[in-house]
Amino acid sequence: MTKRLFSGKMSPMRQSKLFTRTRKESPTDEVSQNAELLIRGGFIHKEMAGVYSYLPLGLRVLKKIENIIREEMDKVGGQEVLMSTFQPKDNWEKTGRWEAMTDLYKVADSAGREVALGPTHEEIVVPILKNYVSSHKDFPVCIYQIQNKFRMELRAKSGMLRGREFIMKDMYSFHTSAEDFEKFYSQMQDTYKTIFSRVGIGHLTYMTFASGGTFAKYSHEFQTITPMGEDVIYLDENTGIAINKEVLDSEVINSLGLKRENLVEHKAIEVGNIFDLKTKYSKPFDLSFADEKGEKHTVLMGCYGIGLGRLLGTVVEVLSDDKGIIWPESIAPFAVHLLALGEDEMVSMEANKIYENLSKMGIEILFDDRSSISAGEKFSDADLLGIPFRAVVSARSLKDGGIELKKRTEEKGKIVSENELLKILKPSKKI
Ligand code: ATP
Ligand code: MG
Repeated sequence: MTKRLFSGKMSPMRQSKLFTRTRKESPTDEVSQNAELLIRGGFIHKEMAGVYSYLPLGLRVLKKIENIIREEMDKVGGQEVLMSTFQPKDNWEKTGRWEAMTDLYKVADSAGREVALGPTHEEIVVPILKNYVSSHKDFPVCIYQIQNKFRMELRAKSGMLRGREFIMKDMYSFHTSAEDFEKFYSQMQDTYKTIFSRVGIGHLTYMTFASGGTFAKYSHEFQTITPMGEDVIYLDENTGIAINKEVLDSEVINSLGLKRENLVEHKAIEVGNIFDLKTKYSKPFDLSFADEKGEKHTVLMGCYGIGLGRLLGTVVEVLSDDKGIIWPESIAPFAVHLLALGEDEMVSMEANKIYENLSKMGIEILFDDRSSISAGEKFSDADLLGIPFRAVVSARSLKDGGIELKKRTEEKGKIVSENELLKILKPSKKI
């Protein structure tokens, strides 16, 4: 049995108490599969194009993703903060992005004073850090947050993949030398691979060379292959190296030691990216340090983003079937979905006992204890919600000697005793 990851314990729940309901009909105003399934399952609620609220089931998945990302950021020495959403116009004028950034939301109060609604936080994090560092001994520093971002996205048709309000993990690293930056940057490449593996899409996600912007040669995107993707990448399957279509030329191909004839075109979703910023944002704010000789230098920076909602939506896009979502165990809203079928008194007693016992063991269990709901409806809800294990208690399963346990990915279940069920689901130590 492989070890399962239970990051951050959450409460068990009776489905009869859950205020959300599943829906059979697809929403008429959604074209993307991720939004359709998440809305039908009651994970999210659409407010307007590109803006969604997280409901209890969706929030549980989001929190699990958040925990995984937080653990990995803490491992590389990241210090978590929560920066403001309102951002001073002055800061944005200093970097030139008040005018240059076309998707920036500008908000004015009744006196005409303008602020930016944060689409990213370089303009905030750099001035914050400037208050606290001055010597080379103060470095390296690595700051991150998990927070809502706002961008005036024109094409907000892809559900959770492209929001106008969305949750991002943004990390910023600060260094005194190019060597130190490089070391950290390559560590972050591994960290990102770990994160995407832990959330269950590692097998479809490739580090992709993309344009580095004005300063650096390359940036690196983490692209998950799916026909739903907005990006086009060229993948060398032997090395696992990919290049974004926008930077694809002979010089880039040669410099990466690849051959054009080996590259295969794929559509993909950018779930994260990492950038060498050099002094692009430290310079305008004069973020500098004194070296051993007391000489002043501008600080070097990197930034590292992951869209949490986009990641959640991507998992749904790539890991679902015609019946619904198939959550990886590491981010599933619950570990097991217990279904009590029929109105039989024995069934209800037995299922309630199992629910209580598993809850006491700390197993995250959703108990479909709803009465007057047919077995067929309970089964199709379980498939739609996509919890990794389905445990059915019915008159038949009891006659057969226990609980019918089935993985979401399997066609057929098997009868297990309560003890066996516990052994299979028992939270293992975090790895
Ligand atoms: P894209 O090219 O898809 O617009 P971007 O280059 O603008 O992405 P960044 O500004 O680098 O993205 O943001 C970091 C990460 O935040 C992205 O890799 C992506 O995962 C996520 N992200 C960016 N824009 C959105 C959005 N509109 N909705 C949801 N997630 C987003
Ligand atoms: Mg963008």
